[in-house]
Amino acid sequence: MHSFSYRDQSLFCEGVSLEKIADEVGTPAYVYSSETIRQNFRRLDEALKPLDHLICYAVKANSNLAILDLLRKEGAGFDIVSGGELFRVQKAGGDPGKCTFAGVGKTEQEIEYAIQAGVYSFNVESEPELERINDVAGRLGVKAPVAVRVNPNVDANTHKYISTGKSQNKFGVGLDRAAEVYAHAATLPNLILRGVQTHIGSQILDPAPFAEAAAKLVPLVEHLRDTYKIQFFSIGGGVGIVYDEALASGDPAWWEFVDHPKRITPEAYAAAIVPILQPLGLRILFEPGRFMVGNAGVLLSTVQYVKKTPAKTFTVVDAAMNDLIRPALYEGYHEIVPLKKNASEPEPMDVVGPVCESGDFFAQDRTVPTLAQGERIALMSSGAYGFVMSSNYNSRPLLPEVLVDGGKSAVIRQRQTLDDLIAGEVIP
Ligand SMILES: *Cc1c(COP(=O)(O)O)cnc(C)c1O
Repeated sequence: MHSFSYRDQSLFCEGVSLEKIADEVGTPAYVYSSETIRQNFRRLDEALKPLDHLICYAVKANSNLAILDLLRKEGAGFDIVSGGELFRVQKAGGDPGKCTFAGVGKTEQEIEYAIQAGVYSFNVESEPELERINDVAGRLGVKAPVAVRVNPNVDANTHKYISTGKSQNKFGVGLDRAAEVYAHAATLPNLILRGVQTHIGSQILDPAPFAEAAAKLVPLVEHLRDTYKIQFFSIGGGVGIVYDEALASGDPAWWEFVDHPKRITPEAYAAAIVPILQPLGLRILFEPGRFMVGNAGVLLSTVQYVKKTPAKTFTVVDAAMNDLIRPALYEGYHEIVPLKKNASEPEPMDVVGPVCESGDFFAQDRTVPTLAQGERIALMSSGAYGFVMSSNYNSRPLLPEVLVDGGKSAVIRQRQTLDDLIAGEVIP
C-alpha cells in the first residue's frame, strides 16, 4: 500500500502537498510516508501472527535514522550488513539484541564491534568466517551467537543482480554441505549455534519460491533443532512490490487486490509459508527491506529542459543516476507522474538526468504526461535502494530526505552543501 494520491490536481503524501515540500526544500529531494511504512509493518506482522516471529527490517534498503526510529517503535528488529549499519541502529535507539548481522565480507573490526554490542546472531556466509568469529570471540573471552546462511538453490525468478539463492551466487553455503558445516562449527569453542538462515533474492512477486526454499530446508532445520537446540530459522527478505502501476491504475485501493498478477500480499506470502514453518516450533525471523519502504518513498525532481531531436524528445530533469541508480543498475522501473496534473496528452520520450553517462535515464521511449520546463515530477516507489545507493558522482551534493506524518513534514536529512562535497579533502 502507499499514501500518495491526487487531491484535486495536486499530488499529496498523506496530508501534505508535495509541491509545498518542493518549495520548501527544493528539488531533487526524497519524501517518505510514515503511514505507509507503519501500515506495511503492521500488515506483515499481523499476517505472520500464527508464528513466534520477529521482523528484522533490512537496514540497507533505507537507513535514515528517522526511518529506523519509526520501525523500532513498531517493534522491529534489524538485519544489518556492516558496522556502519549497526552504528545507525544504535543511534536510532535500536536494540542490538534484536539485530542479525549478514554479509559475506565481515571484517575483524566489524565482528568485534558487533560482539561487544551484543547482536542476536551473526548470519555466517562461509567457513573461514566461522573461524574468524570464533577467534575474535576467543580473544574477547566470550561466546558469539551464529547462524549459517544456507543456499537452497532455488530460482526466485528475479533480476540476475538481485538473485541470491542459486548455487552460482556468492552467498551462503550449499544445502548439501550445511550439516557438515554445522558439525564443524559445533567443535569451535567460542561459538553458540543460535539459528539457521536463508535468503533467496529480492523483488520476488510469487510466493512459490519462498515456500520451495522453506520446504527444502525443513529436514536440515529439524536436524539442527534436535542436535544443537537452535532457537531460530530466518527465511530472509525479498518480498517484492509493484513498481509500474503505483498510481496509474487510478484506483487508490489497487494494492488490496490479492489476485493482482504483479502483487504479492503479506497474506499470500504468509499463507504459502506459515504451514511449512509453524510445525518447526522455532522462532521465525523475517528480513524484509524493499517491502517495508519501497512504495513509501518518492523522488521529487524538476524539469530543466525539453530537448527535441529528430529521433526523440528528451526531458532533462534535475535528478540523476547518482541520486537513484536503480534504472541504470538493474533496469529498475519507476512510474513518473507530475506533481500537478496538466491537461496535455502523454507522449513518448526519454526522461534523463544531467550526468555525463548514457546510463543516466529514468525512462526510455516511455509514454508519460508531457512536461514543460519548470514542472515537477515524482519518481514513484523510490523509498528502497534509493537514497542509500546515492553518490556524489559529478560532484552533486547528496539529497535531502523529508518524512511526512499525517499533516506534518520534517526534514530528516539536510541537503549537502558544496563545502560538504570537499570535506576531508587535502591538497598536499
Ligand atoms: C538485502 C537483504 C535483505 C532484504 O532484501 P529485500 O529484497 O529488500 O527484502 C534481507 N536479507 C539479506 C541477507 C539481504 O542481503
